[in-house]
Amino acid sequence: MIVMKFGGSSVANAERIKHVASIIKAYKDKKPVVVLSAMGDTTDNLLDAADKAVAGTVDIAGVAKLHEDTAAELGIDIGTIKDLLDELKTLLTGISMLKEISRRSRDYLVSFGERMSVRMMAAYLQSENISAKFYDAWDIGFISDSNYMSAELLDEVWENIPQHLNSYKNGTDVAIPIVTGFIAKDKKGNITTLGRGGSDLTATMIGAAMNAEEVQTWKDVDGILTTDPRIVKEARTVPEVTYEEAQELAMFGSQVLHPRSMVPVRKSGTPVRVKNSYNIESNGTLIVETHSGKVPPVCAITSVKHVAIVDIVSNRMLGACGFLAHIFNNFLKWNISIDVIATSEVSVSCTVNGNENLDGLLEDLGKACDVSVRRNKAIVTVICDAAHSSAILASGFEALADEGINVQMISQGASKVNISVIVDDDESDRTVRVLHKAYFD
Ligand code: ASP
Ligand code: MG
Repeated sequence: MIVMKFGGSSVANAERIKHVASIIKAYKDKKPVVVLSAMGDTTDNLLDAADKAVAGTVDIAGVAKLHEDTAAELGIDIGTIKDLLDELKTLLTGISMLKEISRRSRDYLVSFGERMSVRMMAAYLQSENISAKFYDAWDIGFISDSNYMSAELLDEVWENIPQHLNSYKNGTDVAIPIVTGFIAKDKKGNITTLGRGGSDLTATMIGAAMNAEEVQTWKDVDGILTTDPRIVKEARTVPEVTYEEAQELAMFGSQVLHPRSMVPVRKSGTPVRVKNSYNIESNGTLIVETHSGKVPPVCAITSVKHVAIVDIVSNRMLGACGFLAHIFNNFLKWNISIDVIATSEVSVSCTVNGNENLDGLLEDLGKACDVSVRRNKAIVTVICDAAHSSAILASGFEALADEGINVQMISQGASKVNISVIVDDDESDRTVRVLHKAYFD
């Protein structure tokens, strides 16, 4: 058994759905379980529709047209889609009357995207004489907590999924399961979502629980690349990365996988492969526990723009032990997450998302520390083998110095696979290019 996950752009229109169907068909003998995202930008469009409804207008014309036209073009019965669109319209009408929306209702609302796409794919495969069956994720045991918009799956999912999919695995049921990514239900029966991009997690969870041969996530590029090809056109495929490296890549700006999606497969040791739907023959990138051959010193470079650095210096009213506790408690109080951090005994520099409102945090920290903020910065992260960090730092910094790029902060993550440097936003792309050249040319 394998799991095949296709994201929104892979199922964005009828032509792409047909293409995905042909890929599923090609892997039929591997017993695929298919996980799908919502079509194209449907999730964003549903969230926009929610905002409009709060403002008093019900408008699902765009979402309805895309799904109705696609169903018509695929030549499938449009009844089930129509039912969901009616339900969606009723929900939006309710929101427009209340003029407010809870996190719970927002999850219910965005769930329609995935629910429509699996119904279309299953119907289309059937029309092509391939036995397939759609499932809303809760039908195969996806139970989560009630932290709407960013729900965590409960441990019982590990046992639930096999109960529903074992008959397919052992061949008593032959219909290919087409499962909604991204969504689950809580114990009260309310629909939840796993956070944006959460379909990756749905796929890896199924793969891990079913002990699948492989989880494939299908993209429009040849797997994980050494960096963003929009910044460096020579970027090339990384043949193999570890779960840990993939997780760091996801957290530091690579759009390739949902950061939490590595959690279940790290537990089970299930390999994940990032594949290109436009180049089926290519091996893409394999994600595994440990490198099979020699560990490459540098695996990839990522960047995140629009960050701010908060510099905090103790004014010595706090004891050495209480200083960090004081700082972190205030970040917790204001619910502001720190990405990169560098410390000494009396000073700390932390990066945060540049869009955060820092007023309350700065006021609180300012009571016992001198605090300042540097804005318009970028984090450039080198995912690498920390066993070689001296050599990596030496060659990287030499290249940056040669190009006159000033690094304002540096941090080597505790994960041993990440070295991050902070530079000015407008130097970020150049930093990536200089480092890419130093490490990969
Ligand atoms: N459709 C959801 C999103 O756009 C989930 C996903 O694509 O993985 O975030
Ligand atoms: Mg999407």
